[in-house]
Amino acid sequence: MSSHLQPSNLIDRFDRRIDYLRLSVTDRCDFRCVYCMAEDMTFLPRSQILSLEQLYDVAAAFVALGVSKIRLTGGEPLVRNNLMTLVERLGQLNGLKQLHLTTNGARLDKYAAALKAAGVTGVNISLDSLDESKFRQLTRTGDLSKVLRGIDAAIDAGFSRIKLNAVILRGRNDDEALALVEFARHKGIDISFIEEMPLGIIDEHSRALSFCSSDELRELIDFRYPLSASGESTGGPSTYYRMVDSPSRVGFISPHSHNFCHLCNRVRVTVEGRLLLCLGNEHSADLKATLDEFPGDSERLQQVIRSAMSLKPERHHFELNDNEPQIVRFMNMTGG
Ligand code: SAM
Ligand code: SF4
Repeated sequence: MSSHLQPSNLIDRFDRRIDYLRLSVTDRCDFRCVYCMAEDMTFLPRSQILSLEQLYDVAAAFVALGVSKIRLTGGEPLVRNNLMTLVERLGQLNGLKQLHLTTNGARLDKYAAALKAAGVTGVNISLDSLDESKFRQLTRTGDLSKVLRGIDAAIDAGFSRIKLNAVILRGRNDDEALALVEFARHKGIDISFIEEMPLGIIDEHSRALSFCSSDELRELIDFRYPLSASGESTGGPSTYYRMVDSPSRVGFISPHSHNFCHLCNRVRVTVEGRLLLCLGNEHSADLKATLDEFPGDSERLQQVIRSAMSLKPERHHFELNDNEPQIVRFMNMTGG
């Protein structure tokens, strides 16, 4: 990786410069979080997913077009076989400034040091509860103690940025928001609270009834730890706050209550090779066809990516309507 930066050449119809790619490396996961998946999931057959080589080619094409930040996600990226061989190659990409990973943390104790050595600069770790049985209910299969070990391993590995992500559902874990902030402060890491998004049809809970707004959480946290807007931006949906007595930042990702589309600097590629121009819309371009037909032809792939920018919609239209989720694909398919 190099710190040399050229501005991204990817600009959409609304003059937004795209310099951030979220690349999904698998749709599979060892958890079944209630807001992300149905209990009984069918995953993609191997023939439909990009190979590690193709994932590398996608990343390299985006970096050649000026993308400087890539986040590996999924599904759970650390369940993908031989993921480290991809990460090691991405870590060598000239022009890539930040290589991040979003993970459920369950396998981080095994991989944190190797990820850091390969050039991963930051990790986001999902943590919705500090209570073992609630954690199990929310993730259906997760083991909290493993995730806590993973968080410590990430801290020991010395990533320049570690952030916890918590999805808060009313009546499930809204009473834990303060405890999660205290945990982040204690560990000296950041935390973001995410409003649940209507991706995929679930019947485990009502998304409308469980909705808990960022504003409400911010007020609650502010009462105990006064928050001041940090003014920092990652060019995305998070708004960050600082506390006077801690280096930890508190972020809020609020797709419902605050529309952040005008700042959008990112696109996603699913593990099927679908370039998604917006999290909350179906506008997409098929990269797999080009990757399959013209292996190694980066120029051609870059051209497909460049043309797809005109498809990026102005904004999403998430509504809290349980009967008709606008987006039927699940978050694990989307690359959260
Ligand atoms: N498995 C990894 C993890 O859990 O961090 C990476 C993929 S996961 C889809 C990425 C993020 O999306 C997680 O922080 C998760 O909590 C969040 N997420 C999943 N489904 C969501 C939904 N319906 N609304 C909001 N956030 C969601
Ligand atoms: Fe798996 Fe992450 Fe989805 Fe949870 S949020 S089911 S850990 S992909």
